[in-house]
Amino acid sequence: MMNISKKENLSSWYLTVLKEADIFDYGPVRGTIIFKPYGYAIWENLQKLLDGLIKTKIGAFNTYFPLFIPESLLSKEKEHLEGFSPEVAVVTYAGGEELEEKLIVRPTSETIMYDAFSRWIQSYRDLPLIINQWCNVIRWEKRPFPFLRNTEFLWQEGHGAHATHEDSLDTVYKALEVYIEVYQKYLGIFGFGGQKSESEKFAGALKTFTYEILMPDGKALQGCTSHDLGQNFSIPFEIKFQDEKNQLKYVWQNSWGFSTRSLGAIFMVNSDDKGLILPPAVAPYEIVLIPIYSSSKESLIVEKLRKIKNHLEENNLRVFFDENRSETPGFKFNKWDLKGAPFRIEIGEKEIKEDKITFYRRDTSERKTLKFEEFLKDYEDIKEDFVKKLLEKSKKLTLENFYEIEDYEEFKEIMTTQRGFVFAFWCENEICEQKIKEETKASTRCLPLDFKEEKGKCVYCGKESNRRWIFAQAY
Ligand SMILES: [Zn+2]
Repeated sequence: MMNISKKENLSSWYLTVLKEADIFDYGPVRGTIIFKPYGYAIWENLQKLLDGLIKTKIGAFNTYFPLFIPESLLSKEKEHLEGFSPEVAVVTYAGGEELEEKLIVRPTSETIMYDAFSRWIQSYRDLPLIINQWCNVIRWEKRPFPFLRNTEFLWQEGHGAHATHEDSLDTVYKALEVYIEVYQKYLGIFGFGGQKSESEKFAGALKTFTYEILMPDGKALQGCTSHDLGQNFSIPFEIKFQDEKNQLKYVWQNSWGFSTRSLGAIFMVNSDDKGLILPPAVAPYEIVLIPIYSSSKESLIVEKLRKIKNHLEENNLRVFFDENRSETPGFKFNKWDLKGAPFRIEIGEKEIKEDKITFYRRDTSERKTLKFEEFLKDYEDIKEDFVKKLLEKSKKLTLENFYEIEDYEEFKEIMTTQRGFVFAFWCENEICEQKIKEETKASTRCLPLDFKEEKGKCVYCGKESNRRWIFAQAY
């Protein structure tokens, strides 16, 4: 079915697989996409999983705020306004007339939420206030690419207001931990958690944390972000509270987001020349049942698969019985390989005779014939092993393309050939960072969370430096 090699032409392979697997279609406005049912189901599963973690581990409640933000609110925090103005969409005309005040279509919701926070928060008893919102946002994209760079994308944005900076930082780190847990434990995607540089941080934040993922073409994808906003928003928005001693103080804030870009990472990282490999936690169907019809045993085959389907569904597994008669078993095998279903159960004459099932796993292409009860007993372990193997594979790819270097010539050489993560000393001066970006297209991705202080020389200017940063070209 697929005749494009992932290794030779990643972007055309990616677009072909997503089209053939029925993941998305293009929207009529450039940079927008339509999530088709099979693609949207993946996001729904991921959403359910992350939503549960946000509620239990971060303690947030879900809310919903309006799409339009009055221009006057967006401009209250100057850096925030400057950072977002090149990519906002603005409504100037509505209801048949010019609007008195322009309306911004939300690129993110800090300003509209914090205007409400200033009314909701009065006393230390109102804190912490931690809310989350699942919604769409608009950031005008000049070089769109499905899922990785969409003008309109879906995400969750969490926002916390706390009495102390320490409490707020605790939420910043918790959110990052939850995101890393999702990527590593459920999606099998390796990456580096770390801190963004001053020039790469969120507009209006004190600090931004991220999870940087290496794509198979050697470019980096920012997998999520978690921001320490300090009091940068609470001062202009006047979000004040009375503490226990009746003193009036400004709150400390944070915000954190995880978007449908993560689907792009799943599609690009976990896959091969046969198509997608979806992690069981988010696959629309974790197990697909395929009958190998034969005239003599047909009713027995169907009956057995129906029973298996009911049994698996009673165990809360997402299952699809592919009964379609116009496709051969071989055609179905290729189709479900392409669509990335992690597991299959195949039953034909042989399995009926032996009272067994044939079990197939997508990542290794292994087939095993065994008793259904035996399979069921081991299924949770198999799922865990499946994600562990994905994570090992993506870790291996990342580490094979991770270069600890001292020399700028070598840096340039890597960025014009295979690309990847370059780990080098940087003096933390923005001029060097800017020059490196102009000359190699690589930006600082992050200072890894577990960095160690070392003595070295800035890879660009040679000045004494004591920390290595990760650089890469980015999506
Ligand atoms: Zn330097």
